[in-house]
Amino acid sequence: MQLKAFLNKLSKVEFERSRTSPPVESAVLKCHEFTEKIDYHCNIKGRGCFQSSNSRCCCDGCRHSVGFLKDMSPEVVLKNLSTYAELFNSKTGYWRENEGCVLPRKLRSRTCLHYHCNFKDMKPEDKMYLSFLKDGNYAACLQYIYWADKK
Ligand code: SF4
Ligand code: SF4
Repeated sequence: MQLKAFLNKLSKVEFERSRTSPPVESAVLKCHEFTEKIDYHCNIKGRGCFQSSNSRCCCDGCRHSVGFLKDMSPEVVLKNLSTYAELFNSKTGYWRENEGCVLPRKLRSRTCLHYHCNFKDMKPEDKMYLSFLKDGNYAACLQYIYWADKK
């Protein structure tokens, strides 16, 4: 999408105020990127997953919510504006058929990263990490990453 059109969409997003002190940008990127190590156990088969009758699964609201960026650090969004604009399309947002989400994990919102519906198969420590991320508790996320790296 053209930058101007994307900015127009973004102007309708109400960014959430941080409940604690705003996290530094590098912490946001590191904590979001860490989710690559998490197995969400999404049972994707053919058109979508077992949990959803919609082919876009839980990403169906991407277009209207502009990737649920409301809880993303505004600093990160501004610094990566051209990437956010280029990858967004007016039909499916950041979701693509046979590809899923095209946004790198570090640029995805907390809403997108913490969401999981397979509680049965996920590791308890992964669930814990995602609950920290859901709350925007970046200090706890960093501590967890430090602990996981030492294992
Ligand atoms: S989190 Fe659940 S609804 Fe979303 S893709 Fe995974 S299995 Fe499907
Ligand atoms: S994970 Fe990606 S495609 Fe899905 S809602 Fe979030 S930004 Fe959109």
